[in-house]
Amino acid sequence: MTRGDAATGRTPRAMPLVELHQHVDGSIPPRVLWELLRTFSLHPVETYEEMERRLVLQEVEEGSLLAYLDKFHYPLWITQFYENIQDVAESIVRAAWANGVETLELRYSPVIHTYGGLTVRQSIRAVLSGINRVVRDHPTLRCGLVVIAMRQHGPHIAKILARQTIGEAEHLHDRCGAVGFDIAGPERGNPPKLFREAFEVARLGGLGITAHAGEDAGSDYVWQAVEDLGAQRIGHGCSAITDRELMARLARDRVLVECCPTSNFQTGAVGKDARHPVFAFREAGVPVALCTDNTTVSNTTLAQETEWFVREYGAGGRDAAAAIHETASRHSFLGRTAPGGLVS
Ligand SMILES: [Zn+2]
Repeated sequence: MTRGDAATGRTPRAMPLVELHQHVDGSIPPRVLWELLRTFSLHPVETYEEMERRLVLQEVEEGSLLAYLDKFHYPLWITQFYENIQDVAESIVRAAWANGVETLELRYSPVIHTYGGLTVRQSIRAVLSGINRVVRDHPTLRCGLVVIAMRQHGPHIAKILARQTIGEAEHLHDRCGAVGFDIAGPERGNPPKLFREAFEVARLGGLGITAHAGEDAGSDYVWQAVEDLGAQRIGHGCSAITDRELMARLARDRVLVECCPTSNFQTGAVGKDARHPVFAFREAGVPVALCTDNTTVSNTTLAQETEWFVREYGAGGRDAAAAIHETASRHSFLGRTAPGGLVS
């Protein structure tokens, strides 16, 4: 067992959990968001219970990525101000720590948090400040930020954002910093190859490269993420399992797929009764991580996603899950010291 933390009421876990794919806006504890809305006299709905229904994906809303993305609507009302962003980031990291997460890469799109006048750098610093508050209390927690360029903002904004992100890179500061670069948002019509220059900038700046691909689009988008963007990890990648050659490539180059089971069933990336791709990836020798995507929208925790995997796997599931988290730890972007590669 890992050590417990009686002072924080932390639940001891049998295996160290490694979270590589969790979004800030979709992971704000509903109570925290509700209280912040009330602080600013914002009452979009009458009761907390109704607010919770708006923030957590309901069964009738399952099956569409766009319905899923609509859940990010209310958080953006309040995450436009430095202190609020700092507070929500802190609450997310504290919740993850209490839940047994030892390594945490949060991800966040700074540009959609600048409508109140923050600069992109301030928007990034606000999240990092919240993260650092928790790490000061729990120094063994490994934590960093993956910065997301939104596909719908286009390749030029992505390139500008990559430059700004480098200024907050972990290896340039004596505190938690930005460790990776990503693209997210509506996939179809916004192919990864358009973002090649932004990712080149990020790579030269020492950031790890991941990309949401193959969640709502075909395996050709995953190919592009690997070949054009140099992705070391893929977010979701569900459609890759239809392409045998791609699977071999992901296995050969040790490109890790960040699998988010609950989210994938909810967005329709994986059919309700289909076998989740995490199993096909493992069988093909592709490294995988188990991730939550959004703990609030998907109403889950990393411990729950891990338990789901153990149940679905059957005999030996717990050992397999522990091995997945170990693999995820090795593929984390945390701990890079300079452009050009990992420390070890
Ligand atoms: Zn995601």
